[in-house]
Amino acid sequence: MELKKIQNYIGGKLLPPISNNYLNNFNPAIGEVYSEIPDSSIEDVHLAIVEAQKVKDEWANLALEKRFLILNTIAEKIEERREELALAESIDNGKPISLAMAVDIPRAASNFRFFATAIMHFASESHEMAGDAINYTLRKPIGIVGCISPWNLPLYLFTWKIAPALAAGNCVIAKPSEVTPMTAYLLSEICIEAGLPQGVLNIVHGLGSTVGEAMVRHPQIKAISFTGGTNTGARIASIAAPMFKKLSLELGGKNPNIIFADCDYEKMLNTTIRSSFANQGQICLCGSRIFVERSLYAKFKEDFVAKVKALKVGDPLVEGSNLGAVVSEAHMQKVLSYNNLAKEEGGTILCGGERVQLEGRCENGWFISPTVIEGLSYDCRTNQEEIFGPVVTIMPFDTEEEVLKYANSVKYGLASTLWTADLNRAHRMAEQIEAGIVWVNCWLHRDLRTPFGGTKASGVGREGGWEALRFFTEPKNVCIQY
Ligand code: NAD
Repeated sequence: MELKKIQNYIGGKLLPPISNNYLNNFNPAIGEVYSEIPDSSIEDVHLAIVEAQKVKDEWANLALEKRFLILNTIAEKIEERREELALAESIDNGKPISLAMAVDIPRAASNFRFFATAIMHFASESHEMAGDAINYTLRKPIGIVGCISPWNLPLYLFTWKIAPALAAGNCVIAKPSEVTPMTAYLLSEICIEAGLPQGVLNIVHGLGSTVGEAMVRHPQIKAISFTGGTNTGARIASIAAPMFKKLSLELGGKNPNIIFADCDYEKMLNTTIRSSFANQGQICLCGSRIFVERSLYAKFKEDFVAKVKALKVGDPLVEGSNLGAVVSEAHMQKVLSYNNLAKEEGGTILCGGERVQLEGRCENGWFISPTVIEGLSYDCRTNQEEIFGPVVTIMPFDTEEEVLKYANSVKYGLASTLWTADLNRAHRMAEQIEAGIVWVNCWLHRDLRTPFGGTKASGVGREGGWEALRFFTEPKNVCIQY
């Protein structure tokens, strides 16, 4: 049977790569190639830029309401095709289809709807100078911008960048992860159906080292919005910085989950299961280091491990599977290698830590049992490096001061979770945790208006709300004296 061939979306058309070379695209739940994706080259990126160049002024000058209508239509069409998109996301990524239906696809639609409406209310600032002059800030689209996204929340994160970039009046060259390209391809069909003018959005599939780097290097692409690993972000910054490109970098994390004995125990326990293992732990916001106040530690350990053992690792397409496959064989091997490291570092694996061999359709899939490790010091490699899989460590602590030291000891600073009923402590700790996001008594409770992103090695800049619209526009101050 011939495999489905994904196509690039350039100049409003679905096109094969110029080279006609394709890469394999795997279904991680069965461990087999199920489609092919363009192995695009620099020439495809250049073609996309030529197409964007033709229409960029027209798109930038389009009445806001017209831009709103088109982007809102894309949101509606994502919703109309949500079952097809959720199935595609699950097959491509390995995540449970229930998660794709409940989270990934609705959020992709929300991203378009949110920024379609936001741009209608996006106003520039003005600053009056003591009765003598007025400043006002023009905010113009940047022109052509690049959006590069990872594999863990494919359509969700792809649209989180594209929607504000388009809403702000830019033309976009976008590259989804080569590991999970399918829903980006379906999005190109949706954009055609929704009447997005040709060349306004161009989706070029392929490898980071070719397509991604060609985007970062091209002088016509004036800004890069990137989500992915910290090393990739550093490489992108090293190329883009001397060209004075605007950069938004959303990178890795090693998030602390800090639990005090006075917390709402049941809510904390259930949420901690999600914040540890949702999407097989492959969410940049998952809390992978769990610190528990000593008086609660033994009870937490017993209850948490019992709940983790009850999680079902299974076929992502079957209702009731809590964890699906991890995204690739290479990623599975990487995650499993940390279990050996943890043991070498003196840790004890309380549950999980192994490849799961399912029966039937998924017998060759890449599944890992959810893993809980204890007995490690806060500063060992297992507790310092991003694993990005279904692996958490648990550690006791005695004081706020001590746990803050542990929490802040990593090079990352993306997100954190805090469980306590003491409001003063929550404020005190939230202020001192080195992270771009602090959740108190909740996790992944997202308001799209809030600044989203990390500090330290977790990135530069913020997405979300006005932050994203500011990033995707160029401010110009006009000062008029009267
Ligand atoms: P990755 O860095 O390997 O790849 C991300 C994207 O960058 C892909 O599209 C890839 O093709 C492209 N790319 C790779 N090399 C490139 C280069 N030299 N130039 C330009 N583009 C290049 O990351 P990944 O493995 O796909 O995703 C996992 C990582 O993403 C984890 O570290 C995770 O923490 C991070 N992440 C961060 C956030 C956040 O919001 N901070 C969200 C999700 C994932």
